[in-house]
Amino acid sequence: MQTQSKLALCSLPLALCATGSVLAQGQQDFSAVQIKTHQVAGNVYYLEGQGGNVGLLIGDDGVLMIDDQFAPLSEKLQAAIKALSNKPVRFLVNTHVHGDHTGGNENFGKLGLDIIAHDNVRVRLAKGVNGGAPSPAVALPVVTYGDKMTLHLNGETVTIAKLPPSHTDGDSYIHFAKADVIHTGDSFRTIGYPGVDFNNGGSVKGMIAALQALYDAAGPNTKILPGHGVVVTRAEIAAQRDLTVELQKRFTDLVKRGLTLEQVVAAKPTADLDEKYGSSERLVPAFYNAVKAEQ
Ligand SMILES: [Zn+2]
Repeated sequence: MQTQSKLALCSLPLALCATGSVLAQGQQDFSAVQIKTHQVAGNVYYLEGQGGNVGLLIGDDGVLMIDDQFAPLSEKLQAAIKALSNKPVRFLVNTHVHGDHTGGNENFGKLGLDIIAHDNVRVRLAKGVNGGAPSPAVALPVVTYGDKMTLHLNGETVTIAKLPPSHTDGDSYIHFAKADVIHTGDSFRTIGYPGVDFNNGGSVKGMIAALQALYDAAGPNTKILPGHGVVVTRAEIAAQRDLTVELQKRFTDLVKRGLTLEQVVAAKPTADLDEKYGSSERLVPAFYNAVKAEQ
């Protein structure tokens, strides 16, 4: 059960997601991964490779980077950044603790930049995520915050703010005021079901609140850059919130009826949704455990 819950984290590919990343990195061949660069708006870009979307703000003051995928991809990511800007990466924000968003921390930390994250991300990385090895000091955030912080660079006002515990208990979103872009981290993704990592403080109630908070932080034209997937608008966030409310209702009913996890799996509570959202193999144990704990 623990293994299943631990896997209830990220999007594709399954083997690379989050907690499995330490193992997966040793097994996975990243040599074929190509980094694709996408402009979101103005000086805000994102890099698509393997793992979470890497957000970038470029300009004369230096590069702000959001998340760093897996360690074997650091050089490719650096090359893609260099193609956009001749300035060094000055800040690296971790949206949350998972290895497909923080795997490059050690490599990038050695470049001397400052890693920024919510307080809980540093605590979990320092301890070791899901029984994994503690991160070395150079891979840890040196600037942490509890509620909200603001960076002023490249003519942008960049707000990094805490979301309610949803995907994990250290989720941040990053808002670029001038470009009107929000990087949501994994509290919102356009791929698959909502991901609640119960073992790292994720919550179904919190996920609904986080999606509402992201919706409220966005305007109708704000470009939403998800943790995984493609750029959308806040209408997609509203749809994800409504889906999460529906899932919460279904799982609450099953928990109240006293069903075990095995019985819930057998009941296939998302059979009608799987065609649209993909496999519920990781969703079911995560939502079952979270909803049970949140009764
Ligand atoms: Zn994640």
